[in-house]
Amino acid sequence: IEAAGLLVETDDHVHSVGHCYRCHTVIEPWLSDQWFVDMKPLAEPAIKAVEDGRVVFHPRRWENVYYHWMHNIRDWCISRQLWWGHRIPVFYCDACGEMTASEVDVTVCPSCGAAQIRQDEDVLDTWFSSQLWPFATLGWPEQTPEVAYYYPTSVLSTARDILFLWVARMVMSGMYFMDGEIPFKDVIIHPTVFNAEGKRMSKSLGTGVDPLDLMEHYGADGMRFGLMLQVTGVQDLRFSEEKLVSSRNFANKIWNASRFVLMNLDGYEPGEVEPATVADRWILSRLADLSARVDEGLDCYEFGEVSRRLYDFFWSEYCDWYIELAKGRLQSGDAQQRLAVQRVLVFVLDQALRLLHPMMPFVTEEIWRRLPLDQPTSTLMAAAWPDSSALSAFADEGAERSVTRLIEIVTGVRGVRARYQLPPKQLVDLHVKTAGDSETNWLETEFAQMSRLAGVGSFSAATDMAKPQHAATVIASGMEVY
Ligand SMILES: [Zn+2]
Ligand SMILES: [Zn+2]
Repeated sequence: IEAAGLLVETDDHVHSVGHCYRCHTVIEPWLSDQWFVDMKPLAEPAIKAVEDGRVVFHPRRWENVYYHWMHNIRDWCISRQLWWGHRIPVFYCDACGEMTASEVDVTVCPSCGAAQIRQDEDVLDTWFSSQLWPFATLGWPEQTPEVAYYYPTSVLSTARDILFLWVARMVMSGMYFMDGEIPFKDVIIHPTVFNAEGKRMSKSLGTGVDPLDLMEHYGADGMRFGLMLQVTGVQDLRFSEEKLVSSRNFANKIWNASRFVLMNLDGYEPGEVEPATVADRWILSRLADLSARVDEGLDCYEFGEVSRRLYDFFWSEYCDWYIELAKGRLQSGDAQQRLAVQRVLVFVLDQALRLLHPMMPFVTEEIWRRLPLDQPTSTLMAAAWPDSSALSAFADEGAERSVTRLIEIVTGVRGVRARYQLPPKQLVDLHVKTAGDSETNWLETEFAQMSRLAGVGSFSAATDMAKPQHAATVIASGMEVY
């Protein structure tokens, strides 16, 4: 142009230049022939399947993202110039130029009979192959027993970045190839885990964590449970190694508590669990509640909530309180009393281990196999899931109120003892302002436990009890304790 004298001006312009996403080389546009899939007819039934609730997204808001993509769908370029992949099943005749798409290899031109046939050298986009996953893995296109049994599947769990690349395409191809039948009923879009600095975890950037390394430190159970503890609803999360520390400690706590139970089973015989004390009724009622909450949580894929419930139940209610409340009877000389409390301890541990098993499979399995249970299976993995509606018969509000109050008083008195640094041997006397006789009776019943757990020497109770001079105050449900 310059030589011809036609150049008007030379100037620098800033503009965006495409780069290869892998090696960052500048990309030059290059026109070429490619294969495309006409997507609109495939998208229509897949939109309907979500509209009428055959496929449900969790959380539901992802359905809008799905609709947006599907309503604005474009033809899909499926040919790739790579070595690896399913080859495009199109055959060209070099003699007459005929082009044949065929499921079986073409060796003779159907138009001119020539044998100079060449298959397209391109391969299918990797997502084209991946969209076949729900049925191709089961032996499709053969009519295998696996296809008949497992298709449609139930739950698909994935990250939001491949909602369209993978999930939507599986719905479309599933319905296309499998007589309009959806590939799965529920799609869980789980939160994304970022590293502690809030960066995306990436192997190539070195911002990730090595699961094998974490398992080395915290155990496979500790890592798995620690990850679940960090999930709050649908929020993305920053990975915290501290939660893995508490999960490892949790596994140790369960292990130690279970060992304690196992070491205190002399004279144990399996049998019906019969709650004999308010503490027994309380822990069974808490178990009933736990079982219902775990079922509820799992039904709506609230894994974080479920793991926190299990954590609190084992750590606080079973280990810290029930085992402590049970010790008196475990050490008693009365064989019948001992057997009753042993049965509750074993029953609750058995049921709670089953509930925890999906989230901490190893430690629960190891403990469960040591329990003296009369079970049709020797592995927890195959044991029946707790029946929350049968367990609901144990629900007992009165026992819950009673033990909650006992815990409040014991915790309060222990706090006072610690604050004034009372030596363990020194007993404290309680002056309790109550609402009436029923509370005084309650104090009499629970006095032995208070005495054992909080070093209480005596108590006096009255509706008009005045606070003695220099006394500390503990507030418990319906009572003031001085
Ligand atoms: Zn590149
Ligand atoms: Zn031909």
